[in-house]
Amino acid sequence: MMGQEKKPIEEVLDSLDGKKKIAVIGCGGCSTVFHTGGIEEVNEMAEILTKQGKKVTPIGLPFAVFACYKPFSSMFVEKFKKDLKECDAVLMMSCGDGLQTIREILDEELGVEKPIYPATNALGVSGGGPAKFIEKCQACGDCVVGKTAGICPLTECPKGLLNGPCGGTRQDGKCEVDPEKDCAWNLIYNRLKNIGELDKINNFVESHDWSKVTRPRVFEREPLDIHKHLGRTKEVIESLGI
Ligand code: SF4
Ligand code: SF4
Repeated sequence: MMGQEKKPIEEVLDSLDGKKKIAVIGCGGCSTVFHTGGIEEVNEMAEILTKQGKKVTPIGLPFAVFACYKPFSSMFVEKFKKDLKECDAVLMMSCGDGLQTIREILDEELGVEKPIYPATNALGVSGGGPAKFIEKCQACGDCVVGKTAGICPLTECPKGLLNGPCGGTRQDGKCEVDPEKDCAWNLIYNRLKNIGELDKINNFVESHDWSKVTRPRVFEREPLDIHKHLGRTKEVIESLGI
């Protein structure tokens, strides 16, 4: 998911300077997990802005409704079309991906072109939880972790070495750049050994093809039947007794 943090409130208030009516939109995906734009945070922000004398429409998206997934988020956002039409600005409590998806919904689907400001800084693709998340992937477009024991050398190694270690690894197995951190290539070596694939340590990995990261990348996929998938989710959750 997309790691993220709240922007300082002073920066948010600065961006809304001179705007009276504000629609605050959250995200039921990563922003809920990171406490940057769940329903609770949207309501808190609404309270802060109200105290600043602004007229606020809070639009919280429930858990699992990702702001960045248009077919889902637009179903919720369009219910507030009237408020969105009347507002002076939109404050978006999600990553930049969610913000721009909502901007497109406003501009192209609802015909409501408004200034839109971020309340959040996106920090990178990360995984883990419930409390600690670590950046694990740079979405490089050509995954090599099948050769490196399921550990990403581009992200885990500060030098992004595809063939390692660098020669600076500390005697205790820590990284030359950060003595608090395990050397990625030490981890890769040990895990290759544990899974019986140590011979792979000698295989040369070609330089990464960064042309696969030429931006913006565009992907075409068959659209999902949301209701069918929600039904399946419910079935599986019930069958597992979760
Ligand atoms: S090699 Fe690393 S950055 Fe690239 S896709 Fe795999 S995990 Fe992500
Ligand atoms: S010590 Fe290991 S993790 Fe650190 S820079 Fe060198 S190879 Fe990368």
